[in-house]
Order: sequence, then structure tokens, then C-alpha cells
Amino acid sequence: MRPRDLSANAPYVPGRGIEEVARDLGMDPGELVKLSSNENPHGPSPKAVAAVRDAADDVSVYPKAAHTDLAEELAERWGVAPEQVWVTPGADGALDYLARAMLDPGDRVLVPEPGFSYYAMSARYHHGSAASYPLTKDDGFAQAAETVLDAYDGERMVHVTTPHNPTGSELPREELLALLSGVDEHTLVVVDEAYAEFSTSPTAVDLLGEHDNLAVTRTFSKAYGLAGLRVGYALVPPEWADAYSRVNTPFAASAVGLAAALAALDDGEHVERSVESAQWAREYMEKGLDAHTFDSAGNFVLAEVGDGTAVTERARERGVIVRDTSSFGLPGCVRVSCGTESETRRAVETLNEVLAELD
Ligand code: PMP
Repeated sequence: MRPRDLSANAPYVPGRGIEEVARDLGMDPGELVKLSSNENPHGPSPKAVAAVRDAADDVSVYPKAAHTDLAEELAERWGVAPEQVWVTPGADGALDYLARAMLDPGDRVLVPEPGFSYYAMSARYHHGSAASYPLTKDDGFAQAAETVLDAYDGERMVHVTTPHNPTGSELPREELLALLSGVDEHTLVVVDEAYAEFSTSPTAVDLLGEHDNLAVTRTFSKAYGLAGLRVGYALVPPEWADAYSRVNTPFAASAVGLAAALAALDDGEHVERSVESAQWAREYMEKGLDAHTFDSAGNFVLAEVGDGTAVTERARERGVIVRDTSSFGLPGCVRVSCGTESETRRAVETLNEVLAELD
């Protein structure tokens, strides 16, 4: 007995855990600086941690099926109806739920290249396929409607990421508007705002009322520091009122995750501090790294280093873990997440040593 042919489903390769890398290097995990997964180096809000502890007492009962408390809170914050908020297992889950809602077998989606690999994977998992539009190094990976529309061929979903992972570039609002009106009626434009808290540009959420071919995905994994709990959400058009209950995995988010997300929303100061810290780290890296860096609006910086694989490997041997962007379809660069002040200083120092060595 074998599963169906899964050969087209390339596995998602996450950054390796800090314990695993430490074991390989014969180091203590505390000696390592892990800046490879765009996590919040300051951790979650203490309020979220307290909520996790409280929620732990009640884990023998199912969470609220419709995730109503979190959906209602988010709906109020974003000025949308609660039915427009789809609580999901991470933003990855949001991509899956949207694919379930949109794709018939054989449908195609359009994704950025380089870009976040899960867009294409999710399409394949839902019996679809992916084509790509290019973002190019020469213009700093600038995002524009024209680039997407030149490649567009009636795909059912078009994915954009702003700020974009791994480049940090943004899709300006006028370009999003041009894209929304440039695609066919049957195409959903999905704006991935996983890193939006770190940017000063406006969110696409307020366009949901005016454009019925737009969905926005967001997450508690990045600025809110809850990556381990897997809570994200999609904001969908008002007309989709009953679709969630037809595509969601029952009890999509755990009771612990929901409690933490609600508490995290209530600690705006923690998010603000995290964002300010990331902005400092971004600037420090942009100025301090002896490599060309691209303007970033996310909690990471992309640096052009020549041999990204060698730089990643040598930095790792010195206890600094960064991401070789080959896996994003972008060889020659590394992506370095914003760490705490000391982590960021150490990363810059180590990367500069490695760059000098390889020069
Ligand atoms: N979108 C982008 C652009 C990402 O970089 C990530 C995480 N790496 C996600 C979505 C998924 O985030 P999560 O599932 O942790 O919410």
C-alpha cells in the first residue's frame, strides 16, 4: 500500500532547531545566535505566557469551534464582520484554507519567485499547480502590478507578499490597486501581510470593503512572538460569509493558542517594543554588514554575499545561524533576522569575519 503520487509535492524545509544545530557543533544552545526564521527575539508578551498557563488547566475540553472570541476581537480591530475573519493554524493554514475555498483540481496559482515556498506547495496539496512572476535583484526586487500582470494568465489565485520574504521589498498601494483591477473577475489576490507590523506602509485590510477579489493573511508568529503556537488568520471578502465552516479543519487553532493570541492582542506595548527593536537591528545590519543589503520593511535583512551557502555554513560553525536563500530560489544571498541588540551585533561581526575570509 502506497500513498498517491506525491513526487510533485516538494517537502517544506524549515530552519533547523537550535538544539539540533548545537548538538552538531558540540556547543551549548545558549552559545548560538539563531537568526534564520524571522522569529521575535524578545519572545511573546508576558500576558500571553500567563494566558497559556491559565489555558493549560482546561485542555481536556475542545476549544470553541468557531474561534469566536478571537475572530470577534480581530473583526473589531480591523473594522470587518466576524465572518470575514478565518482563524487558522498559522498563516500557512490561512493559505491552505484559501486554496481549499478557491481551487478546483487542475487550477493554477501565480506566485513570486524568489518567494515564500508554501504558496506553490499549498496549491499542489490542493490538486493545483503554480506558475511564477519574477522579482529581480537589479531593481532591488521592486514589486509592481505590471510585473505580476505580465506573467498572469488567468490563474485562480495570485499571491503577493508585502513586506516580501526574503527580500523585504513592498508592494506600494497604487500597485496593489492596479493589480486588483488588472486581474480577471475569477481571480483572488492574496496579500500576505505576515511581516506588516514591521512596516510603516498602510495595510491592505481597508480595501476589503471595496474589492471583492482580495484576501489578506496575517499571523501571530512574527511581531507577536507566538510562532510555536500556530495561530494566524485570513481576512476574506464579505460575501464569503459561510465559506469558513465549509473548508476549516474542526478546531483549527488550539485553546492554548487562542488564549495566547487574545492576550497578545491586548499587549500593544510589547508589539511596539518588538517593532522598534527590529527597526534598530535592520538599520544596524544595513549599515554594518560589509555586503550589499536590500531595503527591508520586514524583521530581517537580505544581504548579497557571493556564495550564500558557504557564508551560511561558516557563520554556523561560529555559532551564528542565518538563512541561505537558495531555498527561496535566490542563490548568492543570506537572510538575517533581526535579533536582540547583542545578537545582532554578534551576527554582523561574525558575518563580516566570514566575508573577509571568503574574499
Ligand atoms: N508568509 C510568509 C511570507 C512567511 O514568511 C511565513 C513564515 N515563514 C508565513 C507566511 C507563515 O507563517 P506562520 O504559518 O508561522 O503564521
